[in-house]
Amino acid sequence: MEIKNLICITCPVGCRLEIEMEDENNIRSISGNKCPKGPIYAREEITNPLRIVTTTVELIGGDEPRLSVKTQREIPKGKIFASIKALKGVKVQAPVRVGDIVLKNVAGTDVDIVATTNSELCQTTSLFAQPCIDLYQNNR
Ligand code: SF4
Repeated sequence: MEIKNLICITCPVGCRLEIEMEDENNIRSISGNKCPKGPIYAREEITNPLRIVTTTVELIGGDEPRLSVKTQREIPKGKIFASIKALKGVKVQAPVRVGDIVLKNVAGTDVDIVATTNSELCQTTSLFAQPCIDLYQNNR
């Protein structure tokens, strides 16, 4: 019998869960939860842990050098590194709107990477921002 300890991250209470199990397919008991969401979280975390991935990609012609992005929904924890790797070298052209798809079906997860911020094209008001200077110099 194995005992696993997890902290439930479903809400800010952060209950300390104790899971008694033979293996991941044979959970005997879950305790320490203050509500029914705890056991649901524990079972998912043991059988198929999922995470939202947040990172940045290169932004071309925008008012910032990087664009914040995330997976549209949770992906298997085991696909996180493959997803980050798939985003290496991805460049997005400004302007960008929140929710725009940056990369489809990242790492074969059937989940898209989307922008989480808006980015405008370099404007005369932001000409002294470094990304705008870089854009100007690259286009000379
Ligand atoms: S078990 Fe319930 S109360 Fe405790 S952290 Fe999870 S969601 Fe919150």
